[in-house]
Amino acid sequence: MDLNDELFQRAQISIPGGVNSPVRAFRSVGGSPRFIDRAKGPYMWDATGKQFIDYILSWGPMILGHNNDEVIAAVDEAVSKGLSFGAVTQGETLIAEEVRKLVPSMDQVRLVSSGTEAGMSAIRLARGYTGRNKIIKFEGCYHGHSDSLLVKAGSGMLTFGNPSSAGVPASVTEHTLVLEYNNPQQLEDAFAQWGDDIACVIVEAVAGNMNMVRGNPEFLRTMRELCTKHGAVLIVDEVMTGFRVAQGGAQAFYGIEPDLTMLGKVIGGGMPVAAFGGRREIMQQIAPLGPVYQAGTLSGNPVAVACGLATLKGIQAPGFQDKLSRAADRLVKGLTAAAQENGITFCADSVGGMFGLYFLPSVPHGFADVMKSDTETFNRFFHGMLERGVYFAPSVFEAGFVSIMHTDEVIDATIAAARETFAEIAA
Ligand code: PMP
Repeated sequence: MDLNDELFQRAQISIPGGVNSPVRAFRSVGGSPRFIDRAKGPYMWDATGKQFIDYILSWGPMILGHNNDEVIAAVDEAVSKGLSFGAVTQGETLIAEEVRKLVPSMDQVRLVSSGTEAGMSAIRLARGYTGRNKIIKFEGCYHGHSDSLLVKAGSGMLTFGNPSSAGVPASVTEHTLVLEYNNPQQLEDAFAQWGDDIACVIVEAVAGNMNMVRGNPEFLRTMRELCTKHGAVLIVDEVMTGFRVAQGGAQAFYGIEPDLTMLGKVIGGGMPVAAFGGRREIMQQIAPLGPVYQAGTLSGNPVAVACGLATLKGIQAPGFQDKLSRAADRLVKGLTAAAQENGITFCADSVGGMFGLYFLPSVPHGFADVMKSDTETFNRFFHGMLERGVYFAPSVFEAGFVSIMHTDEVIDATIAAARETFAEIAA
């Protein structure tokens, strides 16, 4: 038993499952999670002092690498002025201006503290604005854990969904239609049937919660056209893709213009900031201007905002996105070659600084494809890499992330570890 095992046993006495968010528990891969003590650049160190190259990056936010000097200085300065005022601060305007510059479809921005809140509020706003109840989401996409989104497809795709969590009344999910990702025909059918009742469509344009799955351009174009035609609000969830798959997010990558956008993760640079925003006419329906209520004691917290603002400045360094993309690309190509050398069924893909590793013969296009992953080989890969000091997400359903500190040297060390791990699996 090492120190991580001891800490995990102790944690489980006071904390359900020993974790404050389920995927941290290593449930699907087995073993004790590593208790992280500190991090710098592309590295983290656990309680035993073991070093890891980190490809989780707090599930996306640490795009500048851990413990970035400018970000820490900005946070220190904000802390020295006070932790929270519950009153307006100039930083909130500055970060909203920065977001508007980087994501031009967002005329106005409201800050919240988590992606879950951003999603919940964006949907309430879409419903308030349209005066309609029904919403469409896609199988395998995640938009936070608010009740109406904890839903799985009903019997047959074109029926309304059932709760996917205990504690959610069926009456709350009865307005949520769950469709297949990357299936434009189902969208056409759904709008043909319920077009006048649909408040919004919510989508991850590059999905990152069923491993990484690229949205098909035709699927996204059809979605935009149908929403416009039927007066439904298109919500693009860029919590994961924002500032990462391109500087302007997935909407810039694909050239689609959402009505509302959700942001999280990178916008807070590792502190609790998220946001939703979009067309002025829609945003002006929110309190105090309009009838849609939304609020938060710590929304726009000055320390968190200083952290996010410094992070958004950091990603605008010349050549930043190219460098980030090249790092993910080098990783994906190197891992694929290492798997091939050892006869392992594996492929990989990346968009900007986000990547997917698949224990599948070809890149997946939706949830059903991802479900075919060879989880047993993935688990061996995960533990083999962890032992060799490389920390990938502990689930076959998660996407991976690189930071600007993932240099060629760091990527090549990862590929060398993968070559050994794949050889061990093949033996
Ligand atoms: N949307 C997407 C696309 C996400 O990936 C996540 C979190 N992984 C969320 C929403 C929810 O964000 P949070 O965990 O901050 O509530």
